[in-house]
This record gives sequence, C-alpha cells and structure tokens, in this order.
Amino acid sequence: MPNSATTVAVHPYHDAGPELTGAELMRANPYRPWPARITSITELTATEKLFEFRLVDDKVREAFCHAPGQFVELSIFGVGEAPISISSSPTKRGFIELCVRRAGRFTERLHQMQCGEIVGIRGPFGRGFPIDDMRGHDVLLVAGGLGIAPLRSLINNIHDERSEFGKVTIIYGSRNPAEVMFRHQFEMWRHRRDFDLYLTVDHADETWDGEEGLVTKPFEHLEINAENTFGALCGPPVMYRFVVAEMRKKNISYDRIYMSFERHMKCGVGKCGHCQIGHQYCCIDGPVFNYWEAKNIQGSM
Ligand SMILES: Cc1cc2nc3c(=O)[nH]c(=O)nc-3n(C[C@H](O)[C@H](O)[C@H](O)COP(=O)(O)OP(=O)(O)OC[C@H]3O[C@@H](n4cnc5c(N)ncnc54)[C@H](O)[C@@H]3O)c2cc1C
Repeated sequence: MPNSATTVAVHPYHDAGPELTGAELMRANPYRPWPARITSITELTATEKLFEFRLVDDKVREAFCHAPGQFVELSIFGVGEAPISISSSPTKRGFIELCVRRAGRFTERLHQMQCGEIVGIRGPFGRGFPIDDMRGHDVLLVAGGLGIAPLRSLINNIHDERSEFGKVTIIYGSRNPAEVMFRHQFEMWRHRRDFDLYLTVDHADETWDGEEGLVTKPFEHLEINAENTFGALCGPPVMYRFVVAEMRKKNISYDRIYMSFERHMKCGVGKCGHCQIGHQYCCIDGPVFNYWEAKNIQGSM
C-alpha cells in the first residue's frame, strides 16, 4: 500500500497543484502550451480553414477568456508554434475558433490534421480592440482578406450584444469571390436591418452580385456620424493607409481608429524581442494599436 503522503492527486496536465484555479494555472507559466483537441474543421476557401478547439483541462477551459483582437500561440507538438488570432467571440465560452491560412510548414501541417487530434494552446495574449469603449457608439469595421479572422471575433461579439452598440457597418473586401470567407454568415446578414454590410471583391465573376472594387469603394456612399463612431480595421499592410484616409474623410477622429498588425513573433509575452518595433512590442502593446501608436510603427502607415 502506498503511503498516504505519496498519493497526492496530480492532474495529468499540470504539476503546480490541484488547488490552483484555471486562471492561476495559465498565469503560472505562460510558456506552457495547454493541450487542446480539434473538435471541428470547416473548409472556408482553398487555402483557409476554420478550426474549433476545446481545451482538454476542465479548469483551464472554463477560465479561458479573451478580448476580440487577442491571439493565441498555437503549437503542433514536434512541429512548431505560430501566433494566430482568435476568431470566435468572447461571448461564446468553452471553445476557441481559429481561422488559419495555409502559408508554410506549420500551417500546412495544421491543415493536414483531423478532428480529435491534439495541439497546444498558450494565451490569450496581446491587447485587443477596446470593445468596452465602443459600447454605446457606432462601429465601422473594415476587413481585407485574412484580416476578417480577428475582426470576426469583434463582429460576432457585437452581434451577440447588439443592443449595446449603435449603428454597425461592416466592409469586407476580398480579391475574388472564391476568397470570400464566412460567405454563408455574411449572406444571411445582408438582409438584416441592424447591420450595414458591404462585401466587395477586386475582381468579380458571374457568381458575384455584390460590389466590385477595392475595400475603400463603399466609403463613397457611407453615411457616418463621425462624432460617435469607432473605426476598426485589419487586413494586408497596403490597405491601412487608404482605409484610414477614407475614415478621416468621413471625419472619424484619429483617437477612435484602431487597427491590428502582424509581426513575426515567438514568445507572445514581450521577452524574446522578435516583434519589437521601436519601443513597442507587437505581442504585448498590440497587436491592436490606435492610429497614433500605429503611426510610429515603421512602414505601417
Ligand atoms: C498576432 C498575429 C496574429 C495572426 N493571426 C493569424 C490568423 O488568424 N490566421 C492566420 O492564418 N495567420 C495568422 N498569423 C500569421 C501566422 O502566424 C503565420 O502565417 C504563420 O506563423 C506561418 O507559419 P508557417 O510555418 O506556416 O509559414 P512560414 O514558412 O513561417 O511562412 C510562410 C509565409 O508566411 C509569412 N509569415 C510568417 N509569419 C508571419 C507573420 N507573423 N506575419 C506575416 N507573415 C508571416 C512568411 O514571411 C512567409 O512568406 C498571425 C500572426 C500574428 C503575428
């Protein structure tokens, strides 16, 4: 018979002690990936998939909460780790959705994985969109291409708490109809009165009945109450300068324009310095910056 002093229950995934709460466990070691099971995979386009993950540890899963715009470090054991924005809304707990483009070695391997397989998740990390400041105001969201991944978290959060926000306008631009992600969701929203939705493609084909042109085109007929509007944008770097210029033409205050940036990063907690831009670290000071902060990021605006 083992001595009772040696039979302390140790959870298979942590040795810090069963008495810690889930939040304390995650804080105790931010470098530790928590096992998560892939519970659903949806093919969005030829190169993007939406993965749903469920953290295996009950306490950690229950404690996990994020702000729209934050990201996690996703690891495939024996392959590597990558920062990926959280695409699901904080209003939906118990699972995490990530929308991932097949870009290179890591994401290629992820795209080969099946439901039931285990990955690692650290986080959430970084500063997200200021959703609490946005409450009670109009919000204009502009996404280009994969920029819809972090903005979807904000969009779905606003959707779930719709009465807390004023007018909501969404502009989402893709290169062509085949690259439009979450098309089903947006097709349904096109008929809703409480969202003004503009889908644009740079190059239309016969399947497209939306607008053709750059993501800035819908600004031509937007009616904005500048005094009361927050702008949020995410997309390819070239987009920022032009979208911000359009927002300014509509007199939205620079103070209320927020944008998400991607930089190569490793640790996610402001230690390794890979994502340092001047005096800021993209991983902890961003990835969401307001206009004034973004202006100081070289090559961004
Ligand atoms: C805060 C943050 C959030 C992100 N969110 C998402 C997301 O929601 N969905 C998604 O698909 N990707 C996202 N990325 C990018 C993702 O991390 C990279 O695509 C991934 O690391 C590529 O790894 P790989 O081994 O597959 O490709 P690699 O072989 O490492 O690279 C393939 C190509 O992608 C480029 N690349 C690699 N890392 C980055 C990066 N950090 N930023 C820009 N280009 C990069 C490389 O320059 C190369 O051209 C995010 C990055 C950051 C920093």
